[in-house]
Amino acid sequence: MGKTHACTDPHHHVHDAAAFVAAVERACGERGLRLTAPRARVLALVAQAGGPIKAYDLLDRFRDAESSGNAAPPTVYRALDFLLANGFIHKLESINAFVACHHPNAAQHSVPFLICNRCHSATELEDAGIVDTLDAAARALGFAPQAQTLEVHGLCARCARDG
Ligand SMILES: [Zn+2]
Ligand SMILES: [Zn+2]
Repeated sequence: MGKTHACTDPHHHVHDAAAFVAAVERACGERGLRLTAPRARVLALVAQAGGPIKAYDLLDRFRDAESSGNAAPPTVYRALDFLLANGFIHKLESINAFVACHHPNAAQHSVPFLICNRCHSATELEDAGIVDTLDAAARALGFAPQAQTLEVHGLCARCARDG
């Protein structure tokens, strides 16, 4: 990913789920991780959603695809944990949904999200300065930060224009 990569572009989505899974597979190879079949399956479902997707929708789609019945929930949750821990997907706490990461080659990262209340799109705001500022402010108070969740709700450019 070069300097010109515009992650603040609201139209920058994961367009091609298969290509995204292939990119994560390569990243896993480079980092000594294993993208097992269920992990790849869950990742593909998140990517195919094209926007934030809730765990129960993922479970439904996973069940439909695998006809795996009661074994599905633990399998899906374990896969989500793996994908989250390695930064391939993000969890949006405020709407309790998952979204594919735009840059699966980066290590696990905190990133602010812009979430549209109308079309429910979620855009990664790639600005390390915001993350660093929060981190420094926390440390100045003697607080050791481990994770950040920063989610800004509002209207995306397209919805604001059309509204
Ligand atoms: Zn990301
Ligand atoms: Zn919108």
